Amino acid sequence: MSARLFIPQEIIAEIREQAVAEAPNEACGYLRGADGRVAGRIELTNVDASPEHFSLDPQEQFAALKDVRQRGEQLLAVYHSHPETPARMSDEDIRLANDPKMVYVIHSLADGRTRGFRVDRTRTVIDVPIEIGSEAASTKPGDIGSNDRGGTSNG
Ligand SMILES: [Zn+2]
Repeated sequence: MSARLFIPQEIIAEIREQAVAEAPNEACGYLRGADGRVAGRIELTNVDASPEHFSLDPQEQFAALKDVRQRGEQLLAVYHSHPETPARMSDEDIRLANDPKMVYVIHSLADGRTRGFRVDRTRTVIDVPIEIGSEAASTKPGDIGSNDRGGTSNG
């Protein structure tokens, strides 16, 4: 379980675009990837269509999870937007955060920030630092060496 989340700049930009498009309602979705590094975003419908809270569509959730598994990735976070409030967990967000392992990412249109949180079983909110980077950051030293024999297949 990684203690921080790496999100490429272009995915933050996509979340922001979705947040702007769905304002004044909250926008929501999943972040997928591996090892704490976000590789992509899955846009979901806020079935509440509300400026103050969101609910995911169970059918979309199911399809998204299937997609993530087929890619051999993990579900790294649930994100949603705060159109008019700062990037903080609201009382409602804390109340609805039922998975202590899940990272909740909030993008605020009010303060322009993107922050990550977890909520433990005692309903304590824990900060999950978010690192925002350019896509070039995906070429970490370990990747270069392991890719030069790309023809090797494990079946
Ligand atoms: Zn919220």
